[in-house]
Amino acid sequence: MTSPQWLDSWSAADGAARVRTLFTDAFGADAAPDGVWSAPGRVNLIGEHTDYNAGLALPVALPHRTFVALRSRADDVVRLASAQAPGQTWETTLADVGPGVTTGWGAYVAGVAWALREAGHAVTGFDAVVDSCVPFGAGLSSSAALECAVAVALDAVHDLGLAADDAGRAELSAACVRAENEIAGAPTGGMDQAASLRCSAGHALLLDCRPGLSALDSGHRVPFDLVPAGLTLLVVDTRAEHALVDGQYAARRAACERAAALLGVENLRAIDPADLDDALARLADAEDGATLQARVRHVVTEIDRTARFAELVQAGRLTDVGPLMDASHDSLRDDYEVSARELDLVVDTARAHGALGARMTGGGFGGSAIALLRADAVAPVVAAIQAAFEDAGLTAPGFLLSPPSQPAG
Ligand code: ADP
Ligand code: MG
Repeated sequence: MTSPQWLDSWSAADGAARVRTLFTDAFGADAAPDGVWSAPGRVNLIGEHTDYNAGLALPVALPHRTFVALRSRADDVVRLASAQAPGQTWETTLADVGPGVTTGWGAYVAGVAWALREAGHAVTGFDAVVDSCVPFGAGLSSSAALECAVAVALDAVHDLGLAADDAGRAELSAACVRAENEIAGAPTGGMDQAASLRCSAGHALLLDCRPGLSALDSGHRVPFDLVPAGLTLLVVDTRAEHALVDGQYAARRAACERAAALLGVENLRAIDPADLDDALARLADAEDGATLQARVRHVVTEIDRTARFAELVQAGRLTDVGPLMDASHDSLRDDYEVSARELDLVVDTARAHGALGARMTGGGFGGSAIALLRADAVAPVVAAIQAAFEDAGLTAPGFLLSPPSQPAG
């Protein structure tokens, strides 16, 4: 068996050195950035496909971060380079950025400047370079890490003062969501950006996605300290390709909206778990009724599981959350139909080798899965997953450990 591939995070000093070098490579030997900023990817403990249903999610920030070196410009020009897009620079002027017209990875960056301007902040053009150890397209939110690193950079160079407190960070998060939805064109829900900007070390973020909540009411820090409990959170990047993900994500979202309309509620959060059977019965005769019932069942039970997971964590009962993770995965696989063979293989193998709980994380169709393990189970579980992928003839997965880490800064 080949040895498992660990995806290590970079130290702050290492990440900063990389983007400083990249900056002079891109913009000239005597060019210097105004500073270096970074933001983490995230892993969601539970609460999947709930954010766009006004539900609950419980992400933690990864130790893996995207680094940005940025220099403000007096004009509106944006010039970008990324170590993950070698050999190409990406250029635009801010006046040309808008929904449906901006393409390529620079949309995630210029989109943030566009959204901050839309929100009334005086933001000008900039030269910036990016490098990242957040796995790309792995369901760990490299896109939000990129947006949020740029958001805190622009906040600093324009003295917006938003990164200084949680309410301001919620505002930056909203700008990043608009960048992703409207400029990059990905209809994601908002959990990723909130996690990257508002998580904190040693904590998970209980995110309440009901519209109109104040920053204070929308995000609560929940202590999530694994070490004293003798636990480890293992993340497995399955490296599964998922070409259909965009259309499938939008289709799930549309089904939820249709179900809510049929049930006469603003969103699926409004359905009390105690009334679920009644709601499902009312969907029985709808077109695609069985599918809508399954989607609604996932969303309503998942929000409830997330609330119960957070309560257990608050009560210091970390070793009791496993069954909720398992139920979350089964619901995503069977009712929401967003799992994949590779994700199921990680989950089944981890469970068979003693995981307290295991589930897919992120949007699905590929990407990553997580397992909550006693520290001494990490090596055997990793070896078993590695062997299972080899036996199945699948691309070798990547492994990372995720102690709850620092937010963007
Ligand atoms: P995820 O967020 O799960 O990693 P997404 O598909 O949402 O996957 O985002 C990945 C996209 O984000 C990439 O295809 C690229 O366009 C952009 N991106 C993320 N990080 C970088 C980076 N460091 N450099 C350039 N583009 C990036
Ligand atoms: Mg993303």
